[in-house]
Amino acid sequence: MHELIAVSGKYYPNKMGRIYLGALAEAVGDNGLNVLLNKTDLAQYIAKQPPDNWEREFDFAFIANLNQELVVMYGPRGGRRLAVRSGRYFFDRGVKQLGMIAGLGDIAMRALPLHTKLKMGLAALARIFSQFSDQHCRVEESGSQYLFFVDVCPICWQQTAVQPMCHFTTGVLQAALDWFSGGLNFRIEQVQCKAVGDEACAFKIDKEPIK
Ligand SMILES: [Zn+2]
Repeated sequence: MHELIAVSGKYYPNKMGRIYLGALAEAVGDNGLNVLLNKTDLAQYIAKQPPDNWEREFDFAFIANLNQELVVMYGPRGGRRLAVRSGRYFFDRGVKQLGMIAGLGDIAMRALPLHTKLKMGLAALARIFSQFSDQHCRVEESGSQYLFFVDVCPICWQQTAVQPMCHFTTGVLQAALDWFSGGLNFRIEQVQCKAVGDEACAFKIDKEPIK
């Protein structure tokens, strides 16, 4: 058995941890989640969800370990698919609600040009993570693409990999862009990953939707 990643001192607030576990349960089922929690030394969350508050107590190592165990249990392809799916649920079920607080809802609803919406939406999403958690994010623009950076990433925390591995965040971005654009799909590719040795995790997003 592989060793568990040690606690990091970097956190999601409990509320976000709660949304994360809920999203994971939706992707793998309640039984699947219970097995994952048992194997990652997080059995305390089987009986009791993280509290619905803003205390920063849901350690990044919890997320990294669960993500790692997802691959052990379901294989690289299955693990990837489930991580993307849970990322989508995470946005749809949770971040949207947090986003209402941060003005993200306005962006989805207002009649703005598509690129303005995408740009404002991605910036708001980055702000939500950066303000409410220790997951610092930022957005840059380059030609026909946006780059979404995660400077402190819980998914690949303390891991090494040969390929980018933060599929959960790809799912979050997919669902976010879907919402900002009123149902369009965009090509998203993780082009940098701390686990591969890069400075940050980075996702390249085409500005034009997939036709
Ligand atoms: Zn990462």
